[in-house]
Amino acid sequence: MGIGTKCVQDGYRPGNGEPRQIPIVQSTTFKYDTSQDMGKLFDLEASGYFYTRLQNPTNDHVAAKIASLEGGSAAMLTSSGQAANFYAVFNIASCGDHIVASSAIYGGTFNLFAVTMKRMGIEFTFVSPHATEEELEAAFRPNTKAVFGETVANPALVVLDIEKFANAAHKHGVPLIIDNTFATPVHCRPFEFGADIVTHSTTKYMDGHGAGVGGCIVDSGKFDWTEYPEKFAGLCEPDDSYHGVTYTERFGLEGAFITKATVQLMRDLGSIQSPQNAFLLNMGLESLHVRMKRHAENGLAVAKYLNSHEKISWVKYCGLEGDTDYELAQKYLPNGSCGVVSFGVKGGRKAAEDFMQKLKVAAIETHVADARTCCLHPASSTHRQMSDEELAAAGVSPDLVRFSCGLEDAEDLIADIEQALK
Ligand SMILES: *Cc1c(COP(=O)(O)O)cnc(C)c1O
Repeated sequence: MGIGTKCVQDGYRPGNGEPRQIPIVQSTTFKYDTSQDMGKLFDLEASGYFYTRLQNPTNDHVAAKIASLEGGSAAMLTSSGQAANFYAVFNIASCGDHIVASSAIYGGTFNLFAVTMKRMGIEFTFVSPHATEEELEAAFRPNTKAVFGETVANPALVVLDIEKFANAAHKHGVPLIIDNTFATPVHCRPFEFGADIVTHSTTKYMDGHGAGVGGCIVDSGKFDWTEYPEKFAGLCEPDDSYHGVTYTERFGLEGAFITKATVQLMRDLGSIQSPQNAFLLNMGLESLHVRMKRHAENGLAVAKYLNSHEKISWVKYCGLEGDTDYELAQKYLPNGSCGVVSFGVKGGRKAAEDFMQKLKVAAIETHVADARTCCLHPASSTHRQMSDEELAAAGVSPDLVRFSCGLEDAEDLIADIEQALK
């Protein structure tokens, strides 16, 4: 089946006389006839539902759809993209471990890694997304447990050379984790280029309507943890909290990673997605393939328009010929990337702020990647505490406007930008 058919159909096949739409199972708990039946679930000897903090049927259908879209073996939903990235890393790294991460990642993820997880005793080395093989090589340590990057980075819009990062990770016996939020599986499936784990902030294009915050983790099922049993002891050695279950033995390479993240991390940390939000997420997924095409068309049309405008100093969009990431985009995103374009307005910080105030269709928001066009001036909002020098170090120039093209008509978005620039 093609990606569009999977968006519409996968994850849930009703039986005879069952609801056509995924039912919202709004129940915290599930009933059993005997304590023995329930005991088997607690020992992971039988599979089934007992408490929504661990698993819920609505969430599982939606996770199964996303697993199918990415071409993975298993998936789980989380309450947010932040929780997805935290769990994906924390499932295999703990105090005393080390991670190599691209420096071009979402600000929230950077903070999670560099501040919060550092306090938990996990060290991060940040490398340029355009690092050479030698530079990548130099970042690894004996205690490195994973490599992390974003397909199309938010907000830098840099494209990651997934194959290069995957090769470096595998050479050191660790998995590559890719946050595929901006590209979505409609435009890039990182597993096809060697990535091992994929994460999403489903809050963005997957939901697509700005309705619910959520996240997802997908496992390719291809990374062989058992080749490095000491490095990945949590997956390859018995878990005392489940009467000595060994995840790779009981659930195989296809199921070990997601099962462990569910029965340990979700059990203990509890960042579940509500079944209501999972239902809304599925509504978004049903049209993801149609919407991504339009987002990317609008993004390219706006980027081309801006690129030839005398009042614009620079444009960053990987689909634009001449962009530093154009070649990588041709390889990893041949059908388009996303609707987010960033650019500089001549006149710097003040000009960017004035320009945004004049927009009528595009709204000023902290959000990106939904149906309605929105924009953000990081220097006066998310990054406002930084000096111009600090902004430069973070790759955010004072004139940078992040413009997220929605699903409106491209002509109207361009006309809006034109009148605002005027
Ligand atoms: C928004 C975002 C996140 C965080 O997701 P939330 O759902 O807001 O917690 C992580 N990664 C990327 C690339 C994002 O854009």
